[in-house]
Amino acid sequence: TLNNHPSGRHFLQIPGPTNVPDRVLRAIDQPTIDHRGPEFGALGLAVLSGVKQVFQTQAPVVIFPSSGTGAWEAALVNTLSPGDRVLMVETGHFASLWRKLAGRLGLDVDFLEGDWRRPVDAAAIGARLAGDADHRIKAVCVVHNETSTGVTSDVAAVRKAIDRAGHPALLMVDTISSLGSIDYRHDEWGVDVTVAGSQKGLMLPPGLAFNAVSAKALAAADGARLPRSYWDWREMLAANARGYFPYTPSTNLLYGLHEALAMLQAEGLSQVFARHRRHAQATRLAVEAWGLELLSLDPAAHSPALTAVLMPAGHGADAFRKVVLERFDMSLGQGLGKLADRVFRIGHLGHFNDLTLCGTLAGVEMGLAAAGVPHRPGGVRAAMEFLVG
Ligand code: PLP
Repeated sequence: TLNNHPSGRHFLQIPGPTNVPDRVLRAIDQPTIDHRGPEFGALGLAVLSGVKQVFQTQAPVVIFPSSGTGAWEAALVNTLSPGDRVLMVETGHFASLWRKLAGRLGLDVDFLEGDWRRPVDAAAIGARLAGDADHRIKAVCVVHNETSTGVTSDVAAVRKAIDRAGHPALLMVDTISSLGSIDYRHDEWGVDVTVAGSQKGLMLPPGLAFNAVSAKALAAADGARLPRSYWDWREMLAANARGYFPYTPSTNLLYGLHEALAMLQAEGLSQVFARHRRHAQATRLAVEAWGLELLSLDPAAHSPALTAVLMPAGHGADAFRKVVLERFDMSLGQGLGKLADRVFRIGHLGHFNDLTLCGTLAGVEMGLAAAGVPHRPGGVRAAMEFLVG
């Protein structure tokens, strides 16, 4: 039966935007203040400094009032010049969108092809760089957690491959669906630009985007010739020194960021990452018990943030998701790009606990039955047994 008047909470179990904690919503619900006044400077300094911990960096983090796509563009226009070659890796839909953006900016993209089921192949990157003796490749761009596939790549291995090739290319990493959910180390992994967004592991609404910027990337910004104005790091960093922004910031989202950072800090990042790994494992046990197939093929690369599940042949993912939404008021992630109607994605990131997971998996299991999708029951039970330990 169609539920036109749902009661209780909607289950927003897409892999971002994620559920925003009440604490964060309350923090956002404060009067907007003068963004050039004294009170704002203190807020600006607090969030600009606090957010560095989540990137595990001492480097500056720039905050834009934009979606994640803006941070993709900012990373490229601040560091590169027209016609520069960049090496990108086809992990899935989002890597493909970043590649398209780079092409539109006039960059020469070398795209390492992939089958959307496996992580970045660091050895293939190393081989490409080793073959680039005159250093025409200016940047290597990878997506840490490919949100369209539920596959996480090993950024440290990419760094090592670049170093082994003795290549000076910048390393840029999209952490839009990993930051604050999956262990990520901007400094230790020698990343030059980290791209992130507010609406996933940071438990905020969409609307803030981030660039963590290494000293090497900042130096590249001085010689970069792609047109940039809104995204220019330099004016941003000059204003940020006193907690301000060169244009009107998303004041209320920054209130939310302040609160979300306090929550992450109180739980402890390593605990946050362990929580996500555990919920991902419970989810995979449920998928296995249902007799369904994971999209991700490499067990070492299964994402702690989301799980993409292949539909059995002859059954569309979108019809199944429609049943889940209408019967149980839960949103699951749709298949993107060439995975349209082939997979559904279960988001288990952000503000999430054991019972949120059990409710989510129960919604999937009931939905499979209601939609007539062939499966074995018992996924929720398998997850519960694992969670109880
Ligand atoms: N990169 C990844 C890995 C994403 O998951 C997303 C959005 O889901 C984006 C980039 C694009 O970000 P936005 O939609 O906020 O512009």
